[in-house]
Amino acid sequence: MTTAEIFEKLRSLQDVLARKIELEREINYIPKMLVTQEELLQRLKKEYIEKDIERSATKTVEMELKNLLFEAESTREKAEKHMDAISTQREYENLDKEIHDASEKESQYRKEIKQKEQKIRELDNDMERKKELIDQQDAELSQAKADVEAKLAERKKFLIESEAEEKEITKNMDEELLFKFERIVKKKGGNGIVSIKGGVCSSCHMILPVQFANSVRSGKEIVSCPYCSSILFYEESSEGEEAYFDDDTAGSLSDLEDLDEEDVEEEYEEDDEKMMDYDE
Ligand SMILES: [Zn+2]
Repeated sequence: MTTAEIFEKLRSLQDVLARKIELEREINYIPKMLVTQEELLQRLKKEYIEKDIERSATKTVEMELKNLLFEAESTREKAEKHMDAISTQREYENLDKEIHDASEKESQYRKEIKQKEQKIRELDNDMERKKELIDQQDAELSQAKADVEAKLAERKKFLIESEAEEKEITKNMDEELLFKFERIVKKKGGNGIVSIKGGVCSSCHMILPVQFANSVRSGKEIVSCPYCSSILFYEESSEGEEAYFDDDTAGSLSDLEDLDEEDVEEEYEEDDEKMMDYDE
């Protein structure tokens, strides 16, 4: 396998690996889209249960009030019957007070029972609305889950295809080189093999020593950037290339400190454009 062939394979591999990274990211992210909807459903269910508990408690109080009302009614009716059999003024006053007190209690209990009945009606309405929301949310969540399942299945299918493609590309390639390359691609979010132009690494934008750049240019061996570990290949630059290689003093490591910021920015812009061209 020639160096050019290896470069070609690495570039294909880089695309496949970048696609795999994106697919793995999506497979990890997609199920999280359900979290908000699941939380909303849980909250609605919790609120419904709270309303139901409140309704039971109100119902209990209502029953107690009805018992008390019944007792007060019985007391009053009994006293009213006794009225026919009294003989003294004192007896009359006692019974009359008893009837009066019982009547007052009755009207108080009736008022409270009415309030409880009203409360129960409100709770029933609340619960009915909540039930509708729960059913609706339940249906939406089921649909969302089905969508997520479908998306995941699709991504997983693509991932398997990418893995098969990766296997095909990496056949007969040096394992150590592959191991190193895949690690760089993962670390750099997709960039493992980049061009060197004007003696500058397209990934980290550092100026490489002339001897080093020449070795990349010769294409006789696989060389990694000493700064960012990206594998480097030579790409013809439209201008300034010859000047760079002809000038023995340019781009040596000791020059790095002397480089002023403006120059660095210009290099960046040029390189970014070239990188975009390359991406396409
Ligand atoms: Zn670099």
